[in-house]
Order: sequence, then structure tokens, then C-alpha cells
Amino acid sequence: MQRTAQLASRLVPRPSIPRLPLRPPVPARAASTKPKPKPAMSQSLEYTADRGAELRENVEGVLSEIKAAAAPGHEARLVAISKIKPASDIQALYDAGHRHFGENYIQEMADKAAVLPADICWHFVGSLQSNKAKLLASIPNVFVLETLASVKLADKLQQALAGSGRTLDVYLQVNTSGEDAKSGVEPLTAASDDSAPLVALAEHVRAACPALRVRGLMTIGSWEASHAEGTQNPDFAALKETRENLARLLAGKGVYASAEEGVKSLEISMGMSADFVEAVKDGSNSVRVGTRIFGARPRKQ
Ligand SMILES: *Cc1c(COP(=O)(O)O)cnc(C)c1O
Repeated sequence: MQRTAQLASRLVPRPSIPRLPLRPPVPARAASTKPKPKPAMSQSLEYTADRGAELRENVEGVLSEIKAAAAPGHEARLVAISKIKPASDIQALYDAGHRHFGENYIQEMADKAAVLPADICWHFVGSLQSNKAKLLASIPNVFVLETLASVKLADKLQQALAGSGRTLDVYLQVNTSGEDAKSGVEPLTAASDDSAPLVALAEHVRAACPALRVRGLMTIGSWEASHAEGTQNPDFAALKETRENLARLLAGKGVYASAEEGVKSLEISMGMSADFVEAVKDGSNSVRVGTRIFGARPRKQ
């Protein structure tokens, strides 16, 4: 309620208070050849009726494709990846009832979270440097950090949250494609044993980071695999196999009563605009869709 009032006060133009000019008015400047500095991303929450309708239609289209692809009884969450898109786009979808949004740049997520409704469920899907752990932890309505891939970051998050009484859900990011440019821990195979890095990370979080809760696994996957037609996506197969093996290895250590219970309690986040239908057919619990909802993104400057 208080927050709504705060938001409203941001939107309502304040009556202007007449002031004596401190300096004489600046004369109009001749056109400069210098490029103007880029304005900061607009934090205005106002959107046009047309843009609102377009975004709603796009989300409804994606939701119906998800529904059609899901096996009976299986539900997959749609996370609208709003990186580089204005806060007003998010407000438009929020007004249409959508709640899960994802961002890739931590300062941008913090700025948007500060002006948008407090019951948005934020997913952070970018790579987070350890020195930004505090900033992420300061955002009260983070639903899940999708990209935890190191003990160092886990420890920083634990430090940032300790004493706050709050907890943070995390997905462990798995580099299923093995590309150097992708972060993530190496996947597990049937041959992996309980000294594998992913097992060690999961155990470390459990044993040493009481403010963190492992909610599942996430992969980004290779561009080629996500755009190949008609074949089983190897990244999705690898993430599912990794979940089975992690569940088996953790059950062996008594973390789960059985491997089956482990599989049931670990979500998998996979699937983007190009391949979310395949991902849902493959059992994804959470798909991350940007372009199909918001349109193409400009290149990040
Ligand atoms: C940008 C991004 C997405 C969304 O990608 P689209 O192809 O635009 O749907 C999903 N996941 C991650 C991690 C991203 O960075």
C-alpha cells in the first residue's frame, strides 16, 4: 500500500514552485557535433494502449504454445526476459496479470525492482560477479538467482543475507554445451562420482549456506542446438541427465531419501524464444522467453 503510494507520487506531476532564476536563462545552443550522452533507460511506467495490447497478445501466444506442448499434469512457468526493455513494458504485462520477469544485468534489475510493483517475482539470469552479491541480496523480491556456478559467489550471497532472516532460491547453472563463453559447472554423466564439481557445489550450499536453497538446475545451451530443427536438443538431454545423476549422487549421501525424490525436488530451467516448445516437451519447469514477447533487442552498448 505504502509502495503504491510511493509509485503514485512518482507519477503525479508535482505542482511547480515558482523560483527566482539563479542564473540568466541559457541561450539556445548551436547544434553541436558532439554526440549527446545516451539518456538513462526510462523508468516511466506509462505505456500506450497499443503497446499494452501487443505485449499481452505475445504473452498469450507463448502461454498457449507452452500449454499445448506440456505433457498432461506438467506445468511450466513462463519467465518474461525483459532485459534492455523499459519498465513500462513490464508494467503493461503486470497489469495483464503476469508476475515472473527475468533480467540479465544486476543494476538494471535493481533499478526496475525499485520502481515496479513489489509482488513481481524477479529471476536473475545474467552472470553475477561476487562484488554484486550484496546488490542482488538487497532486492527483496528476487524469486530465484538462476546462475549460481561457484562456491565463491555462494559464500558472498550467504554473507550478504546472513542475519537478514531472508533466504534466496538458486538454480545451479550447468554448462551443457561446453562452450568457453558460457558460464556454468560441467554437467554430470552416469560415470560421474560424488567428487564432481556440481556435487561439491550443491553440498557446499547445503552445508555452509543456510540462507540459500537449491531449487534446481539451469542451462543456456548452444545457439546451434536451439536453432536445429527436428532433432533432440543435446543441451536439454544433458541437463535432464545431470539432474538424474545429481539426485542419485546426493541420495547416496543421504540428502534425499531416494534418487526419484531428488529428481522431483529439483526444477530445470531451460528453453528460450527459439526453443521453449521443445524445452517444455522435454520437461522444462521454467522457460525464459524474451524476444518472442518484447521483440528484438537493440545491441547492448
Ligand atoms: C536473454 C536471455 C534469454 C531470452 O532470450 P530470447 O532468445 O530473447 O528469448 C533467456 N535466458 C537468458 C539467460 C538470457 O540471457
